[in-house]
Amino acid sequence: MKSVQLIAHGKPGQFQLRDLPDPQPATGEVVVQVFACGLNHLDLWLESGGLPVTIQLPRTPGCEIAGRVLTTGEGVSDWKKGDRVAVQSNIFCGQCEFCSRREESLCLNSEMVGVQRDGGFAEQVIVPERALVRLPDNVDFETSAALTLAGSTATHMLTSRAKVRAGDWVLVMGASSGVGSAAIQIASQLGARVIATASSQEKQDLARKLGAEHVVNTSNESWPAEVRKITDKHGVDLMVEHIGGIVLEQAFNCLARGGAIVTCGATAGREVTLNLWPFFVKEHRLIGSYGRNRVDLERTLEWAAAGKLHPVIHRIFPLEETPRAFAALRDRAVLGKLVIRTAAR
Ligand SMILES: [Zn+2]
Repeated sequence: MKSVQLIAHGKPGQFQLRDLPDPQPATGEVVVQVFACGLNHLDLWLESGGLPVTIQLPRTPGCEIAGRVLTTGEGVSDWKKGDRVAVQSNIFCGQCEFCSRREESLCLNSEMVGVQRDGGFAEQVIVPERALVRLPDNVDFETSAALTLAGSTATHMLTSRAKVRAGDWVLVMGASSGVGSAAIQIASQLGARVIATASSQEKQDLARKLGAEHVVNTSNESWPAEVRKITDKHGVDLMVEHIGGIVLEQAFNCLARGGAIVTCGATAGREVTLNLWPFFVKEHRLIGSYGRNRVDLERTLEWAAAGKLHPVIHRIFPLEETPRAFAALRDRAVLGKLVIRTAAR
């Protein structure tokens, strides 16, 4: 089978398209024939060597996988050849104290597919059967590959970690990102009033199309004041954040009393300064969010099947052009998601 492997870290990293032996499933494992796999910022961190985990090279990246079951190992009874599936990227153990409470995002033995084990920029990938979720009939592989990591991250943030309420003001940072574009749609369909941030006119138009009532530009330093004005000085009740750095510090300036910032990333900086006085006086909350629970992934696919959640796909690349897709994401020249298409249907 063909596989795109990262053989050396860097910006850009070095990739090779290789022919590898077909993977053989062990007990409880399934081989998925990959049809589509989404690209994420996580892949750029893997490429550059910027992740705080040990990576063994060569490694096949790709953590947002959709395809069909090809072969099953011993003891697999719930899945058969040809089943359409999405793969949960944070592969959980199913046995630790958190998994037993259905909080798979906190699994003590979690492994990221495409990071700590080979992923989906290949014609086949091997995963434990518990990582599979059935793909609804009317959700195509590209839609799944553009939603199941980024979209379920947004679902986890807005429903499992912070609970968005109808009528809430919600600020979504980075409207054109995978998480941002999903979060705008999810918050809107749950009855929230959404403000999004976007830098270019094109990204602002996209935010409005996805359901944002207002759009602000964070390159304008007074953006928190603008948000306060839009909300008639109330501020936002909930903020979906994944940028970090100075943006997160500024974000507290437009958070309503009792409001929460839920964050799943730090692309612009992992260390921030927090003024504790307004933090406790206004009873603010800063909530971490990591990956997703199984229920978040199922809910995301249900919304996609019901037409309530549509991925924004910027471009689809063939497997051989995976390094070009990495370059496009690195250059931030992307509106929505990039997807790699692998095997022929
Ligand atoms: Zn676990």
